[in-house]
Amino acid sequence: MSEEILINVTPRETRVALVENGMLQEVHVERASRRGYVGNIYKGKVSRVMPGMQAAFVEIGLDRAAFLHASDIVRPTAPLPEDGGEAPPGAPLPTPPINELLRDGQEIIVQVVKDPIGTKGARLTTHLSIPSRYLVLLPYSKVLGVSVRIEDESERQRLKELLVELTSGQAEPAANDPAPPAARHGVPEPPDVALLPPPRALAAGLTPRPLVAALSAAARGDPEVGWPQAGPPPITNPANAQPRLAGLAQPAAPLAAPGSAAAPALRPVPAPVDRFGYIVRTNAEGQPREALAEDIAYLGRLWSVVQENIARASVGERVYEDLNLPLRALRDLMRPSVESVRIDSRETLERALDFVRRFMPELVDRVEHYPGERPIFDLYGVEDEIQKALRKEVPLKSGGHLVIDQTEAMTTIDVNTGAFLGSRNLEETVFRTNLEAAQAAARQLRLRNLGGIVIVDFIDMADEEHRRQVLRQLHKAMARDRAKATVYDMSALGLVEMTRKRTTESLARQLCEPCPTCSGRGILKTAETVTYEIFREITRAVRQFEAKQLLVLAAPQVVNRILEEDSAAVAELEEFIGKTIRFQPEEHYSQEQYDVVLL
Ligand SMILES: [Zn+2]
Repeated sequence: MSEEILINVTPRETRVALVENGMLQEVHVERASRRGYVGNIYKGKVSRVMPGMQAAFVEIGLDRAAFLHASDIVRPTAPLPEDGGEAPPGAPLPTPPINELLRDGQEIIVQVVKDPIGTKGARLTTHLSIPSRYLVLLPYSKVLGVSVRIEDESERQRLKELLVELTSGQAEPAANDPAPPAARHGVPEPPDVALLPPPRALAAGLTPRPLVAALSAAARGDPEVGWPQAGPPPITNPANAQPRLAGLAQPAAPLAAPGSAAAPALRPVPAPVDRFGYIVRTNAEGQPREALAEDIAYLGRLWSVVQENIARASVGERVYEDLNLPLRALRDLMRPSVESVRIDSRETLERALDFVRRFMPELVDRVEHYPGERPIFDLYGVEDEIQKALRKEVPLKSGGHLVIDQTEAMTTIDVNTGAFLGSRNLEETVFRTNLEAAQAAARQLRLRNLGGIVIVDFIDMADEEHRRQVLRQLHKAMARDRAKATVYDMSALGLVEMTRKRTTESLARQLCEPCPTCSGRGILKTAETVTYEIFREITRAVRQFEAKQLLVLAAPQVVNRILEEDSAAVAELEEFIGKTIRFQPEEHYSQEQYDVVLL
């Protein structure tokens, strides 16, 4: 398998293509107009504490002050029960009043979880989270968790054990620390639609909110890792040192000591715990120990850079930024099987080289500039393939084709045979078409980034063995996808249900909007249908209103059709209503659009 990454950079839009053996498999698009602040970490300053709202406004250098709720502030957790039993270990203390957590003018490190919208400022949290390829680092927490999207229990166990082993070197957790409930029961990696706490974590006494807030940085789009900027060593303030807290399941680094009006207890910068928290992301499924170890090392380096930035930054400065698409692509797609990364912008190339040198030095010679005369996306016909990925129909080499339909509830893929089928080898032809369709369907799901419920309607096969083989082919083809997919058995009618989980919008959603002409129906009323609608509208109008004459405005093709084929009907209608009707073509009217005007 030879893989190649092509990166096309223009001032307003960046696109990344993943090509495998000359075939486009994935497309990622990022537009300047859609880039927000979510995931960025800032050194902020509390501009106003509002006790009534249990919240504070924080200046982070944006136009409008951002919003921080008391429940999103890292604070101490209750001590673990002696026996470390199932009952709420490290259950959070009730949220203290905001004015015991923060005060005006205080410096505070915050992460944006929601972009400013309209007149509302950005929403913040102090539960920082920084994603890498397979993990999310929670520097102010001790949670060790596995994404609930990894459903296989033994795989969850394996990853959990790996994580415990790999992080145990960082510090020695207290001997009788029970596994945190969140780790035992799975921490939710933010799903496509809504952030839901795992029910059993709730039962174990975890408040979902801070956790959700901490995770939501990774929620939008492809989870992203920040772009570190180098800086001087951190400032530490020993006066602010806090005793280590016993809580394990909850973020344990206190941001501010509650209480004490003799205010030095408030901390400008929270100190990370001695061992970081991590969450295993969905795409860690099946990854070997080394992959996780590398990510832990990477996140460690990244975090120390962020800390340096925190130390050196002044208020309102960003200390950690989401990676932009090219670097995110390198982080998520770069692996030894990628033979080359070609970038058509020198500036982006420099940043990419910088990033790869820093985090994957062994792959640096694979990243190169593309100086070509031809647009980079003309290589391997990428541009064409993107156009085709927006169409409903996908031709198959065997002569058949797929029809892909996206509805509210699901995506359906209908497999069709070619027009001509020799009757002699019907079953064999159907089998070969279905085999090819299985592969094509898997590729299209990935290329179009379709998610949720997918139903593939294969052509009926009598042979049981053929059915098994088609299903096996589908399984195999889906395995190449980074998004987690589950394929179920084939029904008696040849339907295969599957689910595919993804974190970004589909390609069509990113690049297209619903057709205003057909309002999403995908079909238009014929000119003839519109003609008779106009006739009915005329009779209705003259009954209701006084008019000497009528003027009909309609699309040119409709007016032409009426004059050419229905002039007799128009004459009859004029006689019936006793008025003349004038038709006027309107270039900009769609076929279904018309106006009947009384003169
Ligand atoms: Zn349409």
